Amino acid sequence: MKVKTQSDKLADLRRGVMELYISDHPLDCLTCPTNGNCELQDMAGEVGLREVRYNDGGPIATHTEMKKDESNPYFTYDPSKCIVCNRCVRACEETQGTFALTISGRGFDSRVSPGTSQSFMESDCVSCGACVQACPTATLTETSVIKLGQAPRSVVTTCAYCGVGCSFKAEMKGNEVVRMVPYKDGKANDGHACVKGRFAWGYATHQDRILKPMIRAKITDPWREVSWEEAIGYAASEFKRIQAKHGKDSIGGIVSSRCTNEEGYLVQKLVRAAFGNNNVDTCARVCHSPTGYGLKQTLGESAGTQTFKSVEKSDVIMVIGANPTDGHPVFASRMKKRLRAGAKLIVVDPRKIDLVDSPHIRADYHLQLRPGTNVALVTSLAHVIVTEGLLADAYIAERCEDRAFQQWRDFVSLPENSPEAMAAVTGVAADQLRGAARLYATGGNAAIYYGLGVTEHAQGSTTVMGIANLAMATGNVGREGVGVNPLRGQNNVQGSCDMGSFPHELPGYRHVSDSTVRSLFESAWNVEISPEPGLRIPNMFEAALGGSFMGMYCQGEDIVQSDPNTQHVAAALSSMECIVVQDIFLNETAKYAHVFLPGSSFLEKDGTFTNAERRISRVRKVMPPKAAMPTGRRPSCWPMPWATRWTTRIRRRSWTRSRA
Ligand code: SF4
Ligand code: SF4
Ligand code: SF4
Repeated sequence: MKVKTQSDKLADLRRGVMELYISDHPLDCLTCPTNGNCELQDMAGEVGLREVRYNDGGPIATHTEMKKDESNPYFTYDPSKCIVCNRCVRACEETQGTFALTISGRGFDSRVSPGTSQSFMESDCVSCGACVQACPTATLTETSVIKLGQAPRSVVTTCAYCGVGCSFKAEMKGNEVVRMVPYKDGKANDGHACVKGRFAWGYATHQDRILKPMIRAKITDPWREVSWEEAIGYAASEFKRIQAKHGKDSIGGIVSSRCTNEEGYLVQKLVRAAFGNNNVDTCARVCHSPTGYGLKQTLGESAGTQTFKSVEKSDVIMVIGANPTDGHPVFASRMKKRLRAGAKLIVVDPRKIDLVDSPHIRADYHLQLRPGTNVALVTSLAHVIVTEGLLADAYIAERCEDRAFQQWRDFVSLPENSPEAMAAVTGVAADQLRGAARLYATGGNAAIYYGLGVTEHAQGSTTVMGIANLAMATGNVGREGVGVNPLRGQNNVQGSCDMGSFPHELPGYRHVSDSTVRSLFESAWNVEISPEPGLRIPNMFEAALGGSFMGMYCQGEDIVQSDPNTQHVAAALSSMECIVVQDIFLNETAKYAHVFLPGSSFLEKDGTFTNAERRISRVRKVMPPKAAMPTGRRPSCWPMPWATRWTTRIRRRSWTRSRA
C-alpha cells in the first residue's frame, strides 16, 4: 500500500481546515507574545493560507472575545486563542499526572477547563507548566514571555533546587532570563519540570541580593561595604589570629549542598590545605549519611543503584519515608505514569502522602507505621520473606556473602521479629505487613525508593542496610526496574558528599586516617593533611560554646534556619570570634557573621551538579555574575586564591623546616 501525504487535494483540505481554525481566532499576530514561535502561525504559512472567507457575510459566533484567566502568577490562559487541540489536557494527564484539566462542553462550546470550570488557581493545578509547554498557540503563555517577548538565544543548564537535577534551556534576551524550558534531551527529566525549576528563578535577580562584600568587627556593628581584597584579607587575618590564639583546630568550614561540585571541592580543600585540619562538614552528611554508610556496607557503593528511568520497568514500587510528589515532583510524575500503567504500590509512611490515593492511583498497601519504628518494620518484612520461603535462592547463592546472609536470615526469622509480634511496636496489622512482603518478594521487578523518613532517624543507617538486604534477598538488585533508590534532597547532596565534605573523609569517601590516601592529596596539594577526623557541625557548635572553636566559613548554607535547635545554634555562633558567610542573600546565619561575601546563583557560574541518580550534569553560566570580583574571578571560587595564599605560606614553612 502506498500512502500519499502530499497532493493538491490534501493541500486544499489542509488549507480548508486551517481556514476554519483561523476564522475563530483573533488575528493579532503582530502583538501576540508567541509571534514567531507559534505552531498555528507556522502551519497557516505552511499550507499557504491567504484569506479567511467565513466571516465575510457579517458577524458570526466566535470565541475571540473570551476573557483571559490570569489567576496563575506564572502563566496566562487566553481561551480566545485556544484551538481545543487537547494537547494541554494530555500533558497534564500523561506527563504530569495531575489531571487538573479537561475539555468541558460539546461542539462549539468545547473549551479547555481547569477543574470543574474553575480558575487555574482554584483548580488542582500545581503549576508545573507542562500544559504551557505543550500549547501550540499563545493560549497558555508564560507571564515572563508576555512581558519580555521571545528570546533569541538559549543555554542548556541544570536546575538548582532538588536531587532530580532537571536539565533546562535557559532562554535569554541579553542577560535576562525570559523563561526556563525543560530540555527534551535531559536524561533526568526527559523534557518535564516542576513549578520550582520552571518558574521560580526570580531570586537570582532579586533586588534583595547582596552584591558587595561587607565586614564588621562585632555582630552588633553596622555592616561596612569593602572591596573583595579587603574582605578576604580581613577574613584571612582573623582566622590566622584565631588559630594563633586558640590552636589550629579552632576554625573550620561548611560546604553547601547547593553549590557546584567544584565549589564544594574548593571549600574542603581550603579547610584541609589552608586551615590545616579536617573541620569540614555539610548538611548532606546529616540528611543522607545513612545512605552513604548503609549502602557502602551492604552494596559496596555509597549511592543508589538505578537511574530514574528504571522505574518505567518496575512492577512493584515500595516508597518508604518519602513524598515524591512534593519533594521530587518530576520523578514522581514518571513513577505515577508507571503506576497508572499497572505497577503495584506499597507506601510505608505514617502520613497519607499524595501517592496513597491520587487520580488513577491507589496504594495496594499503606503501612502506617508509628514514627521511629522503621527498623522493626523492615525486619518484619524480611521475616515474612525468609519464613515463607520467598527468598531468591539462586541470586543469593551467586551474589551474596554466605556468612553474612546466614547471620541475617537467622536473626530476621526469630519469632520476635514476626509481623504478629511486631504489630504492637509498629502499629501495622500483621496481615497487611505479610501481604506487602509477599507482593514485594513475588510481584516481579520490585524497586524501593526512600527518603528522609528513613535517613533522618537515629537508626537511619540500620534501616538503609535493612532495605538493601531486602532487595538482595529477593534478587531485586542489578537490573532495570529494581534496586535501592535514595531520593536525595537538594540539588547537589550527592556531589557535596562525593567531593569530600565530611570531616573524616577526603574526596571519594577515602578516610583521612589512611596514610596512602593522605599522601595522594598531600603530593597533589603540597601540604600536610591531618590524619585526625575533624568536627561535625553539631560538634563545632559544642566546641564553640566550650570556647575551643572560634571561626567558621559557611558556604551557601543557612545553618541558623535549617539546623535543629535554633537557639543552641545561635548561641554557638554568637560565641565565635569570626564567622564568614558567603551567600546570595543576607540570610539568618549572616546575622551572626563578621564577613559577608556575595555568592553567585546557579545562573551565573559554570560547574557541575550530581543528582540522586549520581548523574553529573553541567551547570552553565547564562548571565554574568552580578557580584563578580573586579579581576573577573568568580566570587564563589574565592577559596582558591585564599587557599593558594595560605598554601604558599605552608609551603614556605615546610621548606624552612626541611632546610633546618
Ligand atoms: S497564537 Fe499564534 S496564530 Fe494566534 S495570534 Fe498568536 S502568534 Fe498569531
Ligand atoms: S500547569 Fe501542570 S498541573 Fe497545572 S494544568 Fe498545566 S499541566 Fe496540569
Ligand atoms: S524536579 Fe527538582 S530538579 Fe526538576 S525542576 Fe523541579 S526542583 Fe528542579
